[in-house]
Parts: sequence; C-alpha cells; structure tokens
Amino acid sequence: CGPTVYDYTHIGHGRTFTNNDTLKRTLTFLGYQVKHIMNITDVGHLTGDDDTGDDKLEKGAKKTGKSVWEVAQFYTDFFLDTLQKLNIVMPNVLAKATDHIKEMIELIDKLSEMGFTYETAEAVYFDITKFSAYGKLSGQKLNEKMKGAREDTYVDPKKKNPADFALWFKLVGRFKNHSMHWSSPWDDGFPGWHIECSAMSMKYLGDTLDIHSGGIDHITVHHENEIAQSEGATGKKFVQFWFHNNFVTVEGQKMSKSLGNFYTLKDIKERGIDPLALRLLFLQSHYRQALNFTWKSAEASQEALKKLHELVIALKKQTQRTVLSQEKLKSLNEFRSRFTESLEEDLQTPKALAVMWEMVKSNIPSTDKLDLLFEFDQVLGLRLNEIIEEKIPEEIRRLADERLAARKAKDFKKSDDLRSMIEKKGYTVEDNGEEYKLKKFRISHS
Ligand code: AMP
Ligand code: ZN
Repeated sequence: CGPTVYDYTHIGHGRTFTNNDTLKRTLTFLGYQVKHIMNITDVGHLTGDDDTGDDKLEKGAKKTGKSVWEVAQFYTDFFLDTLQKLNIVMPNVLAKATDHIKEMIELIDKLSEMGFTYETAEAVYFDITKFSAYGKLSGQKLNEKMKGAREDTYVDPKKKNPADFALWFKLVGRFKNHSMHWSSPWDDGFPGWHIECSAMSMKYLGDTLDIHSGGIDHITVHHENEIAQSEGATGKKFVQFWFHNNFVTVEGQKMSKSLGNFYTLKDIKERGIDPLALRLLFLQSHYRQALNFTWKSAEASQEALKKLHELVIALKKQTQRTVLSQEKLKSLNEFRSRFTESLEEDLQTPKALAVMWEMVKSNIPSTDKLDLLFEFDQVLGLRLNEIIEEKIPEEIRRLADERLAARKAKDFKKSDDLRSMIEKKGYTVEDNGEEYKLKKFRISHS
C-alpha cells in the first residue's frame, strides 16, 4: 500500500517505506527477483475508515484552494523526494488510482455478477456476509465488526451491515459536488478506497501476490476488505505473506498536527540530521515493534553514521593488501552468514546491524572489511560506497588558523565568532590540544 497524497509524508510513513525497502533489498541480496508495485491513492480515501467523512483529497483541495489534481501532484512529488532521500529503491510500477478506474469498474462488475454486492441510491457496497472468511486476517469476529459508526457521522441508511464497504460512490448527497468522477454502470461517481489496491496489484502481479506490505493500521479494515474483494472475485488466495509495519510515535506520543510533532524530512534536515541517519535509526528497531522517535535518538544515529563515514574513509586509505589467512577467511565468512541469518530471521535488522558493527571492529584485513561493509550496505542502503573524503578549502583553513591563534591568545570571543563563521560555511572544527581538526558538516545527497 502506497501513500494517500493529500498531505506531507512524515517520518512514520518514512519508516514503513524504509522497512519495505529493506525487505526488498534483503530478498534481492538473497537472490530473488523482486517485482514491486506501489499504489498512489489520489481518489476515494475517506477520512473515516467506515465510509464516513470526506474524501481526503477533496478536503485537501478545499483547504488550499487548489484543484485535487494539483494537491495530488504536489504531495506525490514530496513523497517521491522523501523516498529518494531515504535511498529507497523505486517500485517497478507506481500505479495511480485515477489511472486505473477502468480496472476497478471491471472488478466491481465481476463482484456484482457473482452476487457479492448490492446497490443503494448512494453507492455500491460489498456485502461482507457473502464472504464467509471475512475477518480471517485480523481474527475479528463478524459480530465485533457489526458495531455501528459514530453517531455524529453520516451513514447511508440503506447500508445493510456497518462493516460493508463502498466499492463505488455515486454523486449524490455529501458527494454531489465531488470534483473527480467517472461514468460507470452505476451512475457517475468515484471508486471507494479499497478496490484500487486489489484491482491494481492483481493487474500487475496476477491473482496471488507473494508479499503485501502496509502499516498495522490497515490490518482490521483495509486489508480485510482487500482480501474479501480479491478472493471473492478470483476464488484464489490473494496474499501469501503480509508484511505489517508497526507505528512511529514521537517522544512517546502519537504524531499529530495539533501536537506539532508531525515531522517530515524537512524538519529532520533542519535539525542537522542526515536522512540516511534516520534510515539507520529505522533499521535499529524491528519492524514489528513500535518505534519511539526522539531527537536524542536521531542525534545518536547521526553520530553513528558519521562514525561509519569516518571508518570508510580510513579503510579506503589502507590500501595495502594483506594475506587473508585461513582463520581470517573463516571469520569473514562467519560475519557474512550471521548477517544473512539475522535478516532471514523475520528481518531482524537490529541484529544485522550488530553483526556489521562487530565486523568493522574485528581484525579481518581492511580491504576485506571494506568489501564486506559495502556488501552489507546493499541491504542497509546507507550509500557507504559513495563516501569520499572532502577536501577542505583554503579559505576555511585560514579561518581555522586564525581561530587557533585567537584561542592561544585567550581571545575567546573572537575564537567563538570564527567558529560560527566556519560552521555557517558548512564545516565543523574540533579542538585537539594545540591542533584542530576540520570536517565537512555534511547532510549528504540533498
Ligand atoms: P497513508 O498515506 O495514511 O495511507 O499511509 C501510507 C502508509 O504509511 C500505510 O501503509 C500506513 O499504514 C503507513 N503509516 C501511516 N502512519 C504511520 C506511522 N505513524 N508509522 C508508521 N507507518 C505509518
Ligand atoms: Zn492498500
């Protein structure tokens, strides 16, 4: 499941898509060929999970005074930029819901012919009582799902069961002025959210998918509905493996606009955190566990990434080839298999990272160490093989020399001013006794 493009991609999305990417990179690393399809939801996703509320994109358009198409394009671009900054490999197909209305109508038509649906004056619904396995993913009983919607929300009076879900909305009532609409056998209207995922994934991947990913929020409604409509239509198993990512909270709280803790990559970079340090932070927790983001943990991750960069530079300098003894060869192979086994064990990225740190601190020869680190990075995706030592410009050196002289003369005001000038130009200066060390303060790949 891809994003609904009505708002900025935040770090919670970032984690889910990074974990999906790590799974994909792992499969590739293990020798599988991965065909990856991602949807872009640009129509039909309502604010309420139970067919209540407004279309998120129409709401976004109203708020900004732009057209729904403009809103979708703007947030799709932001989403793709986030993926690129997190070094996420692009899917083979990026499927926009609005480009697949025909496929959705065909699927709804098929379900109608098979007797899974009913039509009211407002919509076409999937009747969940017609699909006996409904609820098998979440283990929820049908009677638990029968609870009604909140009292303050509008519900179609002709809807039979509260958990029935809309496949097609007609342009009536609250949707009379819906700007996106298409003609269909059931009047002008637009598709419900769930149908797009079934129609598009089956179009590109066939009736049964090997793996389907998404956040844990989708288990009880969205993915149950995807199963019902797909298996209803084909009679075949829809998904072999579900890959559900747990959520990100910020400083112990749910992310929300009202709390002002709805962070995007822009906020991350403004605090001097490299997006790839965020990627490293994501890898440090297991995908089934909730991740509590704190600025302290992000800074620690930034430090760890910096250490890795320094290590790569140091290892690159040690070009002298040494003989790989039998013992060291064995140790190298052990690191490789432990790394692989950690990933094979339900994608234990924290364990894989621990093996990586142990390996870089071990006594295997530097050139082999570097090769193995780059090999691991095919999965970790930290772009370690792109790290090069930055040459420090003459102007920065001169400022640092002046600062050192000021320090020696105990003119701390001048020395502080010079430090901030150096930092403004993108470098850090560290004192080391009578010497100093300059580094490029880099947020890579911006
Ligand atoms: P959405 O755009 O809300 O449909 O979300 C896109 C994907 O990101 C879905 O798979 C969601 O489950 C996932 N997601 C949304 N919020 C979070 C969060 N706070 N933490 C982790 N994943 C999330
Ligand atoms: Zn979906």
